[in-house]
Amino acid sequence: MTLFPDMCRAYLDESIIGRARRSGKVQIECVDIRDYTEDKHRRVDDTPYGGGMGMIMQAQPVYDCYMDICKKAQSPVHLIYLTPQGKTLTQQRVRELSKMDNIALLCGHYEGIDERVIEELQPEEISVGDYVLTGGELPALIVADAVSRMLPGVLSDEECFTEESHYSSLLEYPQYTRPFEWRGREVPEVLITGHHENVRRWRRQQSLIRTARRRPDMLEKAQLSQKDISFLSEWRGK
Ligand code: SAM
Repeated sequence: MTLFPDMCRAYLDESIIGRARRSGKVQIECVDIRDYTEDKHRRVDDTPYGGGMGMIMQAQPVYDCYMDICKKAQSPVHLIYLTPQGKTLTQQRVRELSKMDNIALLCGHYEGIDERVIEELQPEEISVGDYVLTGGELPALIVADAVSRMLPGVLSDEECFTEESHYSSLLEYPQYTRPFEWRGREVPEVLITGHHENVRRWRRQQSLIRTARRRPDMLEKAQLSQKDISFLSEWRGK
């Protein structure tokens, strides 16, 4: 739900998400809130009561837009309002959202949306970080992208996300591709041995080291084996 559907379509038509949409693995529609305005000049915003800068999106078009989406959907529609005042998005929440049948993503713009429609619809409020953007379109695309790639068949191999950063509260190991040597830097030897068990162990250890160095807070939530714990204490002792 946006005032700028073309902005969203440009992203959603391309690459992995575009392919997933074309093959029906995920359905994403960009709905223009302006189509629901009752104003004869197709206005959807007005100045803030009490004065101040910028424009506020009006309640009526947002409300009618969501009601129409609910009417057309065959099962309940979970509403998310993208706002810097929401809870910061995490991979854990993305995983939960990917289990839902229908999600509506409401994009604010200008100075935001009339509070009364937020009170009326009680959306889940999600932020993409502690900074302010001009609109909710990029945050909505972030949610749509992150959720879509968790759906069956969207990525070619499930490992694509189960090994990735944040999935298991660990950052991913470093990755390399051809050529073997670039500007005097060689790919770690273990990766060209073809020894799967050694590669797996090396990657796990690199994940542990990276997370310990860059995001020690994440390690506290990670499920670590006895082997991982021994490896980390040895590495820390070095
Ligand atoms: N006046 C609002 C405030 O201070 O909370 C900010 C409005 S912002 C300029 C316009 C719209 O961009 C918001 O309604 C929201 O939809 C979106 N937005 C901006 N930053 C965001 C963020 N970090 N996460 C999610 N949405 C964001």
